[in-house]
Amino acid sequence: MGLREYRRKRNFKATPEPAGKTARAGRSRSTDLAFVIQKHAASRLHYDFRLELEGTLKSWAVPKGPSLDPADKRLAMQVEDHPLEYGGFEGTIPVGEYGGGTVMLWDKGAWEPLGDPKKGYREGHLKFNLYGEKLHGAWMLVRRGGRNSEPDERRWFLFKERDEFARP
Ligand code: MN
Repeated sequence: MGLREYRRKRNFKATPEPAGKTARAGRSRSTDLAFVIQKHAASRLHYDFRLELEGTLKSWAVPKGPSLDPADKRLAMQVEDHPLEYGGFEGTIPVGEYGGGTVMLWDKGAWEPLGDPKKGYREGHLKFNLYGEKLHGAWMLVRRGGRNSEPDERRWFLFKERDEFARP
């Protein structure tokens, strides 16, 4: 997806958000893939769930936030890829600008794909471990409709896998 949509939606003279460097697939800064959740008090409060993949942050807006109960499948609306620099962003986007409201870091750390992450992302079926400050253990992101879903389907579900970090 790259950063075109991200940049098109924003006026960087008005928002303190980073414009971001050009996404580069296959960059090898480190073996750890970044994971971040930002609590975003926009017109509707939500939690932005972001996973580093192919040089950008793949992003989903989760209205209710993650749940430790594997029975809670949380709606996760896929949004535009964000630049890697966004993972450190906290601040207030002016009212009237895209996403106007306060952004706070809620959790951050590394994620570990279980299986091929590019294939999983493409097929709408991502399984991974989180090594955050709040969130740990195995998680799933599944696109609505699974492997037969429409290519423009942006509804995914985020949920906890059963393990010692789950709280059913
Ligand atoms: Mn947001």
